[in-house]
Parts: sequence; C-alpha cells; structure tokens
Amino acid sequence: MNYDYDVLIVGGGLVGGSLALALGNTPLRIGVIESIPEEKRLASSAGDRALALAWGSSLILDQIGVWQGAEKKAAPIRHIHVSDRGHFGKLRMSAQREGVPALGYVATARTLEEEVATRLDQSPVTMICPASVVGLKACGEAVHVSLREGDKSINLTARLLVAADGGNSTVRQLLEIGQAIGDYAQTAIVTEVETGKSSDFTAYERFTPTGPLAFLPVAKKRYSVVWTQKAAGAAALLAMPEKEFTDHLQSAFGYWLGKIALASRRQAFPLKLIRAERMTGERVVLVGNAMHQLHPVAGQGLNLGLRDIAMLAEMLTARLEFGEDIGEKAFLERYVQARQADLDRVIRFTDTTVRVFSTDFFPAAFARNAGLLALDRFQPGKRLLAQYAMGLGNRIPRFGPLSK
Ligand SMILES: Cc1cc2nc3c(=O)[nH]c(=O)nc-3n(C[C@H](O)[C@H](O)[C@H](O)COP(=O)(O)OP(=O)(O)OC[C@H]3O[C@@H](n4cnc5c(N)ncnc54)[C@H](O)[C@@H]3O)c2cc1C
Repeated sequence: MNYDYDVLIVGGGLVGGSLALALGNTPLRIGVIESIPEEKRLASSAGDRALALAWGSSLILDQIGVWQGAEKKAAPIRHIHVSDRGHFGKLRMSAQREGVPALGYVATARTLEEEVATRLDQSPVTMICPASVVGLKACGEAVHVSLREGDKSINLTARLLVAADGGNSTVRQLLEIGQAIGDYAQTAIVTEVETGKSSDFTAYERFTPTGPLAFLPVAKKRYSVVWTQKAAGAAALLAMPEKEFTDHLQSAFGYWLGKIALASRRQAFPLKLIRAERMTGERVVLVGNAMHQLHPVAGQGLNLGLRDIAMLAEMLTARLEFGEDIGEKAFLERYVQARQADLDRVIRFTDTTVRVFSTDFFPAAFARNAGLLALDRFQPGKRLLAQYAMGLGNRIPRFGPLSK
C-alpha cells in the first residue's frame, strides 16, 4: 500500500516537534499537523514560562540538535535545596557531588520552541500548518486521518499516528480514550522575581502549609517562581496589589536570596493530574501531555514527554533496520511496556509529594521533616534521588549523534 506519510504527528509543540526532529534523519517520511501558525505560537505569553529541564532531558535535546542553541540561553541548576517552612527538615543536592556540570537547567518554553522551529525548518519534515485533525480511522495497514486546513478538507494516510496534541488532545477524544483525573483544587501562580543577592544557581523547593513554592534560577539575580496554592488562596493572592503579594511571597520563601521584587506579571494555572487510560489505539500512540498532565511541583511534565519521544524514536529507528511494520500492535505494546514504569514512578512521586507536603497536620509534618533530614544524611538514598531529579532513573534512549 502507498502511504502519504510513514509517521504523522499531531501537535507541533515541544514534544511533537522534538519527535519529528528525532525521526527527521531517518528514511521515514514525517508529517506534523499543527493547528496554530508558528508566529502566533512563538508570540504567545505561555512561552514566557520557565521550564526546569533534567540533565537527562538536555541529553535528549542534544541528540536532536536543539540543545546546542538553547544551552546559551538556559541557566544551570548547580544545587537543589529542599526545605519545609517553619520546620527543621532540609535536603541538599549538588552537581559537583554528582560529577556533572549541572543537575539540570532552566530555559523558557520560548527558547526551546524557537530552537525546535528553526531545526524543523532545516529538516525534511513536512509541516502541515495551520491544520487540525477532525477525524481518524485505522484500517488494516494504515491509519486514515481527516484534516481541516482553512476551509479545505484533506485526507491523509500514515502507517503510524502519534498524538502529541497536548492536554485537550483531539486524537484521544476521537479514540474515546478516557482519562483518570485527580483534581487537587489548587492553582499554580507563576511569576518572576529579581533577587537582592546573586544566585549560585540553586533551585529551591520550599514546602509551605498552603502548598509548595519553587524558585528556579533564570539568571544571576532573576528567579522564576511557581507558587502552588489552594484555589481560594490563589484567587486572593492574584487579586492583591503587587506590593502586598510580594510581601506574602517574601514571607513564605524567606531571605535565602535577599529582598525580592516582582519582575513579571502573575499567571494562574489550575492544577490537575490527568492520565489517559491507555497509551495506544489502533496504529496510534499518545505522548507528552496528550498522555499525561502533571502537577508542576516537581517540574516533570516536559521531562517525561521528552523521555516518551526518545524511547519511541529509538524503538522506531531500530525497527526500521529490519523493515518491519512500525504501526503493528505488538510493536506498540512493547513501547507501552518500555514506558510504563517511568510513567508510573513519576506520577506516584509527583502525587505523593503534593499530598504529603500540602498538610500541616503535626504528625505528618514531623514525619516528612524527619524523612528529609534522614535522606540528607543517607548518601545512597540521596544519590538515588539526585539521579531521578536528573532524569537518569532510566537509561537515556539513543537515536542520534550526541555532542555532549
Ligand atoms: C505552570 C507550569 C509549569 C511547568 N513547569 C515545568 C517544568 O519546570 N518542567 C517540565 O518538564 N514541565 C513543566 N511543565 C509542563 C510542560 O509545560 C508540558 O508538559 C509540556 O509543555 C507539554 O508539551 P506537549 O508538546 O506535550 O503539549 P503542548 O505544549 O500542549 O503542545 C500541543 C500542541 O498541539 C497542538 N494541537 C492541539 N490540538 C491539535 C489538533 N487537533 N490538531 C493539530 N494540532 C493540535 C497545539 O497547538 C500545540 O502546539 C509546566 C507546566 C505548567 C502549566
């Protein structure tokens, strides 16, 4: 049978775009269907949000040629400092101790999106944009996809369709794949601050009675803030004048970085943990936010999505060598097996962190502080945690040249 594409990727965000680049140098014909034009996506204010990238993610971005340009604009995370406001427990990790230049990096979504877009323009990947998927049907050896491109209707065929179309995935809905949704009734307030003291590029995770507070280094005297609050508390903080909000933030964080001043507007993101009930359909696989949407407390959503596509790219590349069907059920089942443990572990870790650290009930607060303290002194446990924080809990899949 003749196919229009070998792999059609729905969604040209960071996850879909990265997969297209990972497969761009293979003989596979790759098409990316994206509903929003590039200029509009790059100009969106959502691009301002800072993303914490694990060391392992930088290795994946390096293989697709994105890290080389992005690294100059990213801030390294040299230390991680976890504390509990008003309690004794603390946990510290350092890149030096782990023998790496950085435990991870902080880059804005826009920096990464621009690099992905530039690389895609130079690649043989076909961008079908702006166009939206409106229907799909798997039939024998092909998946048939219907698109709307302006007022035109287009039909395409592929051997495999990858849904990377984000949290409201149309593909997932068309396949009638349900979702398990955990609503934390919490909101993340995201903003940036200038700090009085210069940073030594420490990322702070501070647990407060109303929810976790993360400070991520963006530059020597600039930090990105993700402050998770119960929904009502967040509404009150968002409505406050700037000065009052800054005072509350300073009081919750303390003076680790001197006096802070608000440096960007406050944005709100309601928090849910959403997981699709299946990772695959017939000749279809779900990756990134289309499959899982996590609480940003541990900064894991994109990291997990990059590991999804790295594994898929490695397995597809290996399969090509034997000329085997890349959309076959048994192959997709092997992909699910390969991703399941990482996905389960990250979801469990993120969910437990939110629940354990969102309470000030004394016995729970005491236990978690004792845990932090014990972990800080127990080197093997701390090492393991550092490996997970660096995104090295699992082997990093290989599918392209590595310059690091
Ligand atoms: C406040 C906040 C902080 C975060 N911090 C971190 C962090 O520090 N570290 C981290 O790893 N992660 C973090 N995340 C999570 C991370 O941003 C996401 O996991 C990641 O961006 C998801 O990428 P994606 O490509 O899967 O989805 P998206 O970015 O949603 O991309 C989906 C793409 O599909 C397109 N699309 C949608 N529907 C269709 C359709 N029908 N047809 C065609 N195209 C379609 C969209 O236009 C979009 O371009 C954070 C998230 C939030 C909200």
